[in-house]
Amino acid sequence: MLAREKVANTYLGKGVAIPHGMPQDRELIRRTGLAVLQVPDGVAWQPGDTARLIIGIAARADEHLGILGNLTGLLYDDEMVARLAITPDPQEVVAALSAPRVDAPLSEPGEPFEAGLAVEAVVGSAHGLHARPATAFAEAAKGFDAEVMVRHGTHRANGKSLAGLLRLGVKAQGRVRISARGPEASAALAALQRLIEESEPEEVFSGEPAHGWAPLAAGATVRGLAAAPGLAIGPVRLLRQRKIVVARCAKDPERERQRLGEALSMARAELQELYQEVRERSGPAGAAIFLAHAEFLSDPELLARADRRIARDESAGWAWRETIEEEAESLSKLDDPLLASRATDLRDAGTRVLRRLGGVIEEKAELPREPVILLAEDLTPSDAAGLDPARVLGFCTAGGGPTSHAAIIARSLEIPAVVGAGPAVLHQRDGVPAVLDGDNGILYIDPSEEDLAAARAARSALVHPCDEEHRDRHEPAVTTDGVRIEVDANAGLAKEASQAVAAGGEGVGLLRSEFLFLERDTAPSEEEQYAAYREAAEALGGLPLIVRTLDAGGDKALPYLPMPAEENPFLGVRGIRLCIARPELFRTQLRAIFRAAAHGSIKILYPMVSDVAELREALAITEEVRREMGAGRLETGIMIEVPSAVAMASELAGLVDFFSIGTNDLAQYVLAMDRGHPLLARQVDGLHPAVLRMIDQTVRAAAGKGTRVGVCGGVAGEPLGALILIGLGVTELSVSIPSIAAIKARIRNVSMADAQGLARRALACESVEAVRALGKG
Ligand code: PEP
Ligand code: MG
Repeated sequence: MLAREKVANTYLGKGVAIPHGMPQDRELIRRTGLAVLQVPDGVAWQPGDTARLIIGIAARADEHLGILGNLTGLLYDDEMVARLAITPDPQEVVAALSAPRVDAPLSEPGEPFEAGLAVEAVVGSAHGLHARPATAFAEAAKGFDAEVMVRHGTHRANGKSLAGLLRLGVKAQGRVRISARGPEASAALAALQRLIEESEPEEVFSGEPAHGWAPLAAGATVRGLAAAPGLAIGPVRLLRQRKIVVARCAKDPERERQRLGEALSMARAELQELYQEVRERSGPAGAAIFLAHAEFLSDPELLARADRRIARDESAGWAWRETIEEEAESLSKLDDPLLASRATDLRDAGTRVLRRLGGVIEEKAELPREPVILLAEDLTPSDAAGLDPARVLGFCTAGGGPTSHAAIIARSLEIPAVVGAGPAVLHQRDGVPAVLDGDNGILYIDPSEEDLAAARAARSALVHPCDEEHRDRHEPAVTTDGVRIEVDANAGLAKEASQAVAAGGEGVGLLRSEFLFLERDTAPSEEEQYAAYREAAEALGGLPLIVRTLDAGGDKALPYLPMPAEENPFLGVRGIRLCIARPELFRTQLRAIFRAAAHGSIKILYPMVSDVAELREALAITEEVRREMGAGRLETGIMIEVPSAVAMASELAGLVDFFSIGTNDLAQYVLAMDRGHPLLARQVDGLHPAVLRMIDQTVRAAAGKGTRVGVCGGVAGEPLGALILIGLGVTELSVSIPSIAAIKARIRNVSMADAQGLARRALACESVEAVRALGKG
């Protein structure tokens, strides 16, 4: 114990110390045990620290960690600690140390330490160490071969645990002490200190009320916080949350571990998808939360706790739910409302996993078919991302805050929203007419006919820049000097094809067929795929449908397709490589595509092609299937999303009818930055001049062979990106459905000569910032 005390102070804070020995002396311990010593008058520990409750630990392995966790939890409770230092009743001490406390800070996976290497830092983010900076911190910490601990006041957390970091409850300008030990301790400290001190822009709504409407007769009102501007008028509808039922016990812990592992990896893949989708639709600010959710699902603390429960014969679902609930409870008790609201995020991420482990769903959360003002306890980011502005006129939640991710997403979807309105929200009758005033944060229930009419008039008087775009959405996108650009939609599901047409899409330029393959236990059959592709083709009524063949593998694991674990999934067996490695899967899909082609204008697109031989092989398999079926030839193209495909574009162009450039992946491979990386993802920008020069090279190579070039990555849906791309010679843009009208309108306002000038200036830029600055000039 003395040796330990020399290398690390075992004083925990609040008069509690936990002396223990060195790991190399473990063998000397015959039986794990604790000895509790009370020193009511206190004894000097290390300089400046006075210990009153001293708990000596002799542990052979890690049997004592549970008690240690409970003990660190006690540190929240001054009264209890003071009492334990004097109680004459040993049972009281035993009881306090044995009972887990929901408000306990996390126990570290190893022993608590505060070795010599440590730095102090002040949290720079304007909202404290909340989900985004904490995610970045945990993720960065994991990159170092070092144990990292963060101390804030008397609380400590494992620096690699997002949940632990959040539970510290550090506010803006809060001071933390970061300690590290291990081979890369000093590098870790330098990087983490920088990271935590960085300020982080936060998107908050602070708009001036624009509509000027107020009711003449004030009836029933529910007041909350303004979260997204606008007026919504319609019947209210309470969103009922679903409950997932799980069995408590299970007989086979190994099996349960496996089930949990599978559910976690499926949920992570789904979050990655969602991140991309929301990023495309609403930008990185709204999407970043899904990276934090994925981080929760890799949190070493949470996983270890669930695992310990499984070892005690709890089912995977029960163990997971209890772990998440315990943690969410503790988070929700933090006195910082922003951090406390992370409990919603944790539950949201947890439920994504639970859905795959649970049995009966008692109540289904169903979004209404008719347009309504949605009322809910709270909306998780996943709920918000799933809202269809055509059916949800606005929403009002009992909980949440204007900086919650649901609010950020509402603003980007242009859905008026009020949050933090309290439980009154939940006691409204479904179907009652209401007006939701998103500018002032008020829900008016059952207003008079006169007020309703005035609100309708105020809403239509709001000058909406999108109105004109929306009205002209079916008009072609022709530049002022007469060059026509095709604007198509990116779709994940067959049913989105009709939405694409309604939004002005001239076809579906990218059907991400992998959506049909994810979240299930077996691959979709030929019949099921045929039905889906046919549905999309028919909904398009002759407009083109580009079906991208399965782009899975790597990070989008298919549970029914066991593949060896890969260290670098983005560089692994994914995209077309997976299709070639699993020809039966590929052939089934191709058959379904050829059959569906009888019902529309379908083209085939291969993802992630990186090599000429690979393309020849995919083409040969496709041709074989076509012949077997006696089907007609379909136009075939490849995604250009790997630098090697750009380099070989001329040879590749000779083999296919069209190219579709995937700037999301192309940027990640050109810049060598993982597009889902919590720290780097914001820099993975398809407008980087390095990426633009690759696109330029591709277009030139394709032109030499008469091959058409489109872009279906995220930059095609940005006004500046679209102009630069057409200036580079791209003739088809495929964008997310909500962006179609705006992109068409932008093209109608520019001449090709100007777009070419813009593209030339962008190619000459030195940085992505310089390219983006062109959009402001
Ligand atoms: C891309 O990489 O740009 C692309 C459109 O494909 P995905 O985002 O599905 O990988
Ligand atoms: Mg891609």
